[in-house]
Amino acid sequence: MSLEWFKSSTERAIEKVVANKLEQLIDTPVEHTCKAKLFLNVKLVNDTLIIVLLNGEIINKAGATEQDFQDVLNARSIEDVMSIVTSSKVKEERIAHEAEVRRVKALQQGIKLLADLPDFDVVDNVVYLTGTSRSLPQLLVEKFVEVADRVYSEGTPKYMHEKLNRDEEYLSLKRFFMWCCLNPRAEVANELYGFLTENSFRITKQGFFVALRNVVTLHGSPELVHFISNAYNKVKAVWKKNPDHYTIFLENGEYKLVHDSALVTIHKVTSDDCPECNGAGGWYNEDCEEYSEYSEDDSEECWEDCENCDGTGVVEEYTYTVDVPVDHGQRIGGLTELYLDLPNRAENRFTDDWTKTFDIRIGQLTSMPKEDCNWSTQDCMAAGLHFTADQIHYVGCGDQSVLVLINPMKVVGIGTHKGRCYEYLPIMTVPREEATGILHDLAFDTLALDESYAIKELESLTEKVQEGFTVEASKHEFNLPTLSSKELRAIVASLDEMKAEISKRIVTID
Ligand SMILES: [Zn+2]
Repeated sequence: MSLEWFKSSTERAIEKVVANKLEQLIDTPVEHTCKAKLFLNVKLVNDTLIIVLLNGEIINKAGATEQDFQDVLNARSIEDVMSIVTSSKVKEERIAHEAEVRRVKALQQGIKLLADLPDFDVVDNVVYLTGTSRSLPQLLVEKFVEVADRVYSEGTPKYMHEKLNRDEEYLSLKRFFMWCCLNPRAEVANELYGFLTENSFRITKQGFFVALRNVVTLHGSPELVHFISNAYNKVKAVWKKNPDHYTIFLENGEYKLVHDSALVTIHKVTSDDCPECNGAGGWYNEDCEEYSEYSEDDSEECWEDCENCDGTGVVEEYTYTVDVPVDHGQRIGGLTELYLDLPNRAENRFTDDWTKTFDIRIGQLTSMPKEDCNWSTQDCMAAGLHFTADQIHYVGCGDQSVLVLINPMKVVGIGTHKGRCYEYLPIMTVPREEATGILHDLAFDTLALDESYAIKELESLTEKVQEGFTVEASKHEFNLPTLSSKELRAIVASLDEMKAEISKRIVTID
């Protein structure tokens, strides 16, 4: 009865209805008497005009109107029919052209909006992130305009710069492009955003992107790896909660996730026992000379009355609470500690299907020498670690899909549906049934996934960038456009602001 159920069952119902209609259409004899007997049948299903010609051939025209349908009925020749079908195509093209003109106008307006902000430099309608020399691709400009527009509509244009720089979507786009600029290949800055949008990839708050790939399971039973990595990332991305407050237990052969608040139950106890002497009324003084460990009779001289209850052991009735541990089965460990320890677990071992040589573990970087990767726009047959968002069925064979974080700086190739990089961080195994849907599901918020990866990526970033440019330049005889040291300093300083922000957030998170 969930929303998901309603979605899928309606979809099936619609499919079935359309299929029935089509069947009837082809089976039943002519419903409309057509003057010239130009076709066997014509029908308008939703906005699709279906014409069955005398020879049985079927013409489908999407985006047709009731008027098109009437015109076809009244047509005098097959040429008339064809021209109706094509004219609606012309109309479509005109509508598309008008939409494009409106879009370009809106874009120019939007660029003016960006030009007023200190984060952007606009030169001859070309937009740059301040301090960088690579122009923003049009699709990314449009996205920035959209975000700026949204934030403008939320309040006064005053302090716009500050407001935008607190907006998660804005920050993720800005950082994403900075990481792109640090890639020695200018194509990445130019094309990666379009490729990611086209293929439904998701960008994280620190500017990385989330992708999928397949791997081969080496160990027989990675159930705990699945459970830990899914629980850890979904607690963050779906529930927006801190994984520190969860514990994993094994009960009746099943793993379960328990929040701190469910580890104990609070019991109320009512008592009139004196809390000082636990109701005994007093105690034996063990320092007393006659005190004997073995005989109470021998120690009688050493008895001291409790002052709190005057030796009665009883006080006025009072209530207090005790924490009683709840039995959840065998405690496996805290969720965060288990996740961080994943690379050390023997059952967390995967490899790639193609070479069977990579040591792939959830929570540990997988990489290959960047010198061995070449830039190319091919989907397949090129060196590099492959990734995808939507085309999981052909990103390396294997029995297991994994979700990976990728730094745009480390992308080495962009194809049509697949990309290649020289390093990625596998963060979670993905259940088969979720492999095609998880990156489309807005309930799975990727903005929250990348904090510790970001900290690692910022370590000695300047050196890493310089090395990347040197390696890439060594592969070519011509000179690649380089990054000026001033530009590099500006980008690294800006990305470095993440560190303070992340540590602030980790403390305040619930
Ligand atoms: Zn007492």
